[in-house]
Amino acid sequence: MNEQKNRLNQREQLKRQNRFDRQSQVNEYTASQNFWQKAECHAHMVLDGVDFRAALARHEREPEEAFIRGTLAAYRDAGITYIRDGGDNEWTSVRARELAEEYGIEYRTPIFAIHKNGFYGKIVGKCFDTIAEYRQLIGEVKRSGGDFVKVMLGGILDFGHYPVITGGGLPGTWMKEMVHIAHEEGFSVMAHVNGEQAVREALEAGIDSLEHGFLQTEETLRLLAETGAVWVPTLAPVMNQIGDGRFPNEVLTAYGEGQMHNIRRAMELGVKLAAGSDAGAYRVMHADGFRDELKWMFAACGDGLFSDGKERMCGDIYSALQKPNLEKQNLEKQSLETTDMEKLKQILQSGAEEIAVRFRCT
Ligand SMILES: [Zn+2]
Repeated sequence: MNEQKNRLNQREQLKRQNRFDRQSQVNEYTASQNFWQKAECHAHMVLDGVDFRAALARHEREPEEAFIRGTLAAYRDAGITYIRDGGDNEWTSVRARELAEEYGIEYRTPIFAIHKNGFYGKIVGKCFDTIAEYRQLIGEVKRSGGDFVKVMLGGILDFGHYPVITGGGLPGTWMKEMVHIAHEEGFSVMAHVNGEQAVREALEAGIDSLEHGFLQTEETLRLLAETGAVWVPTLAPVMNQIGDGRFPNEVLTAYGEGQMHNIRRAMELGVKLAAGSDAGAYRVMHADGFRDELKWMFAACGDGLFSDGKERMCGDIYSALQKPNLEKQNLEKQSLETTDMEKLKQILQSGAEEIAVRFRCT
């Protein structure tokens, strides 16, 4: 009871200090800006959706340019013009950023993701033991021209069992320190987190975007809305594996359905959502993964009836059809907030890939 009260007080304080003003970190898309942009908000150039060991080996000596170019071309051909990488330890995303302009793509990378020794994250980045070492890594991100900081603050889903997260979250005090240091250095913070407690502590630490965020509760969803952090729920790595045989379908479905339920609730609460497929993760192919993610996010809308009885287009996910028979005015914010689900279904049937996301992070 007391603990909860403390938390509430803390939140009030944070709000008063206006630490949650993220104007600079979240770019709102409007028709006059680049409304049509398709933004893949979570991808790993270093991975290939098939075999992570082989993928990492491919870039071991140096980033393999042919692979990167092929992947960028696939994104370009899918009309995706913004990619936010989740980091790697092979400089692959850095090479991708150098080449991206040739493909008309704005590429953003944290260079590598940062995790605390003994916690999850080795596959996509570098680790530290002490805060001094963490500071050094932030310095390295800065010197290498990182666009933001990616931190690993929690574990990953155990696809063999529901609901289990392998590896716990970092202690909240560490999260606070890490986020604080990154902010001080002028970076926004993209955070890999799962599980109710870790998500709550990460949000209280002031992260700017929540990646994955499985197994949340009503409380953390409300906190998400309050803080204004962007949520990238990455449904594709779970849903795309259903029927694959590697893990039990019931377990995958349970994670997926739980997440969809929470996405729906998040939309009601006004959480900022962005589509990021974790492309490169097993079964999530580059470029196609973005379309998959949107498909699953829209599936989360169900029949379009929310618990308040109102029909609502998915909060901050906006459809942006490029089909000539659809009037651009239909895509304006005002109309979309009340877009009925029948229309949305038609839109999806006519081409699920033609959808843009209003918010992106960093
Ligand atoms: Zn990732």
